[in-house]
Amino acid sequence: MANYYTDQPEIAFHLEHPLMKRIVELKERNYADKDKYDDAPVNYEDAIENYKRILDITGDVAANIIEPNSEAVDLEGPHLIDNRMHYASKTYENLDATRKAGLWGVSMPRQYGGLNLPNVVFSMLSEMISSADGGFQNIWSLQSCIDTLYEFGNDEQRAKYIPRICNGETMSMDLTEPDAGSDLQRVMLKATFDEKENCWRLNGVKRFITNGDSDIHLVLARSEEARTTVADCLCLSTTSATEVLMCAI
Ligand SMILES: Cc1cc2nc3c(=O)[nH]c(=O)nc-3n(C[C@H](O)[C@H](O)[C@H](O)COP(=O)(O)OP(=O)(O)OC[C@H]3O[C@@H](n4cnc5c(N)ncnc54)[C@H](O)[C@@H]3O)c2cc1C
Repeated sequence: MANYYTDQPEIAFHLEHPLMKRIVELKERNYADKDKYDDAPVNYEDAIENYKRILDITGDVAANIIEPNSEAVDLEGPHLIDNRMHYASKTYENLDATRKAGLWGVSMPRQYGGLNLPNVVFSMLSEMISSADGGFQNIWSLQSCIDTLYEFGNDEQRAKYIPRICNGETMSMDLTEPDAGSDLQRVMLKATFDEKENCWRLNGVKRFITNGDSDIHLVLARSEEARTTVADCLCLSTTSATEVLMCAI
């Protein structure tokens, strides 16, 4: 049976890189999780074996589910129902397959249900999924927007959102506006805190947003009046309510 990992030995070559040992040590913080989680590696060799298992599973899903679905996804395309975007039906099958294979929250720590993979391995997975269906790779790999929340969010925000991504909810990063593309300092989307509802309200326009009807959005907006310096905050919003992750950037 086809497998995009075992059929393409050049992908595994990345695991042989001389820096890999250091990368794994840093990501695993000297294997600090080994006594807390059954799936945590106990040493470098164990970590590499774990990565190979995940790569093998992904190679299988990519070759035997995502690639065979790709033509039907292109032919059907996403469409609007009641003003909401719906993916092509086979895209839902792809999402389901990646969720069942545990391929969400791949870079997130185990405490939130993630796989704690280094970026090298994330890129390897991404390359295989991209070979199967470049469009679906966009939907899947945008899960990495959660890295921003992990880096800049507080503990409460991490506990609230990261497990959702580990369970397969989708993300987008909403930066571009009609008058702010390459020059993101020009973003005008306004974030105003609603004291009564205890949430942030967004007012303005975003455009060209890949996977723009995702479950959770990372939104770049201004919480202060327009200035010529960098934008003031990153907002995190869901389709039902809006919350804002304040970040100095
Ligand atoms: C397929 C696709 C997916 C996208 N997905 C997303 C997404 O998920 N989220 C999101 O926020 N945005 C997304 N975008 C938008 C993308 O980030 C912007 O298109 C990009 O930042 C460029 O901005 P612009 O289109 O406004 O072009 P402009 O910034 O207006 O640029 C127009 C032209 O001027 C040139 N130019 C700009 N600045 C300079 C400069 N300082 N010096 C010299 N030349 C310059 C550019 O190279 C270009 O040729 C997507 C775009 C595409 C095409």
